[in-house]
Amino acid sequence: MKTLKIAIQKSGRLNEKSVELLKNCGLNFENYKSSLISPVSNFPLEILFLRDDDIPEYVQDGIADLGIVGENVIQETEVEVSYLQKLGFGKCSLKIAVPNNNSITDINQLNGKAIATTYPVILGKYLKEKGISSDIRTISGSVEISPGLGLSDAICDLVSTGGTLKSNGLIPFADVMSSEAVLIGSKGSENNHLVQELIQRIQSVLRAKETKYVVLNVERKNLPSVLALLPGVKSPSVVPLAEGDWVAVHTVIPERDFWDRISQLKQAGAQGIVVMPIEKIIL
Ligand code: ATP
Ligand code: MG
Repeated sequence: MKTLKIAIQKSGRLNEKSVELLKNCGLNFENYKSSLISPVSNFPLEILFLRDDDIPEYVQDGIADLGIVGENVIQETEVEVSYLQKLGFGKCSLKIAVPNNNSITDINQLNGKAIATTYPVILGKYLKEKGISSDIRTISGSVEISPGLGLSDAICDLVSTGGTLKSNGLIPFADVMSSEAVLIGSKGSENNHLVQELIQRIQSVLRAKETKYVVLNVERKNLPSVLALLPGVKSPSVVPLAEGDWVAVHTVIPERDFWDRISQLKQAGAQGIVVMPIEKIIL
């Protein structure tokens, strides 16, 4: 059986979460900072640790079968790869920002202005769609200091909290794209059964992250109104307790409406609510 290769970022914002995801998929490997390649002992897979900029091309050319990288990097490198799965981490937006003492209020005012960015391809497409012609200045880093140095009138850069923009006297002005880490594969890799197995493991980890396991006690007379609030994977399990009028209900709840549901459950008569993380959900 051919050993698969997956490329992940060697160090940087996506490294830790990528390693964590693969470990949560039950893959055993050493995460030596010094090595470029690490074999997985319990799955026919090798992990390549690379600069994130190189990952899309390695996957396009089939040197790696799979890769974990930000959507922003894929769009910028314009590679032909298969998008296999959004991964829910590394979330950020590519934004145009202007100095806060600037009088620019409308996107058309960027016509003829200089915009510094490390994302000339994505920015170029965005401006073209809007019919705006700006002078795109491609620089390789520290984009946020360029207006202060007089190198540009605006910038286009990745933002997550906005703290870096703020501390450089810049305000976000327009959203160019939003991005998160994704699993990509060489064209056709989605037909490989090992790739399919890995995607299934990843999806079961992601599903588990989105949900909590909840156990609660309720008096039988209040059971219908409590059950009405619980969607569950199929339906909640109801287990009798030693005290005859009471039952324990076991179920899973989506993390996003967790706090709302908990207060509704309490109002409906639920007591002794225990909430636990879930490792995997295999459907
Ligand atoms: P490398 O050394 O691998 O080339 P890098 O410096 O290009 O790393 P990082 O800063 O580690 O890249 O960011 C990796 C990815 O993390 C980005 O391409 C983006 O998808 C995502 N990301 C999430 N939040 C942010 C943010 N606030 N700024 C930059 N990137 C972010
Ligand atoms: Mg990079």
